[in-house]
Amino acid sequence: MTTLFRKRYFPQATAAQWRDWHWQLSNAFRSQGQLERVVTLSEGEKAGFTSGGRAFPLSITPHYLSLMDLSNPEDPLRRTMIPRAEEHLHSAGERSDPLGEEAHTPVPRIVHTYPSKVLFLVTDFCATYCRYCTRARSVGSGAWKTSPAEWEPALQYIEAHEEIRDVLISGGDPLTLADERIEMLLARLHAIPHVKLLRIGSKIPAVLPQRITPALVRMLKRYHPLYISIHFTHPNELCPDVRTACQRLVNAGIPLGGQMVLLKGVNDSSETMRALCEGLLECRVKPYYLHQCDPIIGSAHFKTSVKAGQDIIRSLHGHTTGYAVPMYMIDAPGGGGKVPVGPDYIEGREGDDLLLRNYRGDIYRYHDPL
Ligand SMILES: *Cc1c(COP(=O)(O)O)cnc(C)c1O
Repeated sequence: MTTLFRKRYFPQATAAQWRDWHWQLSNAFRSQGQLERVVTLSEGEKAGFTSGGRAFPLSITPHYLSLMDLSNPEDPLRRTMIPRAEEHLHSAGERSDPLGEEAHTPVPRIVHTYPSKVLFLVTDFCATYCRYCTRARSVGSGAWKTSPAEWEPALQYIEAHEEIRDVLISGGDPLTLADERIEMLLARLHAIPHVKLLRIGSKIPAVLPQRITPALVRMLKRYHPLYISIHFTHPNELCPDVRTACQRLVNAGIPLGGQMVLLKGVNDSSETMRALCEGLLECRVKPYYLHQCDPIIGSAHFKTSVKAGQDIIRSLHGHTTGYAVPMYMIDAPGGGGKVPVGPDYIEGREGDDLLLRNYRGDIYRYHDPL
């Protein structure tokens, strides 16, 4: 499929160029005009470009576009990448900074919401921009510099705060940086005695698997314990190149977690989520969190009810491998942090008995006097 796509739309490109992540980035689709060279946009998609308002950028790597059904505007991955008219609506409860991250930013690039862990936003650049991005207000603006000087206040903050034992490097996508830049960050953080754990949050293995080169992986494995959380959306992403990328990372001893966002019309069916979570386990990625879509402005068309998310988790637990079941989370608006929202398997109490509902829906008693 990928080869056909390359031959059809990039007849000049060799297989080696296709496998080069720099080629993928320089040939990413970044405008309506570029996209229309390969996709016939629907009226709703065209309106996404023209009805003004939000200036959130477009970028889709050739790799990622090759996984989409170009004849179907409802293709799940396509819905997450190509703007639509609904993006310009402002619905109740939506905010540009729903998580109140700006209020928890003691120095630029740091979000310190929880006592012992921080989010370190090292770049605003991504290989592809998700239309539901929680940081749509700042990501992809091109306003951030990713020079080491820009990171210095954040690094000094982490060095000065001994309560920080876990640093989550995110952005933007940290794996879009050059190997030397990533190494500079990891080396500096790794040398801080109170920082016991490093994590990278990235979508790169799913959208630009060519980036996961043997050289990158050899460098990353010098900074253990290092975990990588990967944003996945749909089983259609799990192509051979993505499987290889995950395999390289895991074989370097890097535990991988899958982070999914529950999205209407994309992955909000039990069958799709089960195929994704089981597929991730086969790639040795542990499905970690299923996030309720954050209420950024223009996201209503992606939002499902919380009950829909709980039903999906119920359809997984007991029906597949326990490792395949993510925790369903809502990031509390205003900076409350992430809250696990079930589903709940405790039905209530009867005297000294706790009433438990199992995966089949049957009630069992567990003696548990208060
Ligand atoms: C999600 C998040 C973290 C990491 O949370 P975990 O539950 O440990 O994965 C840390 N800081 C902020 C601000 C976050 O949003």
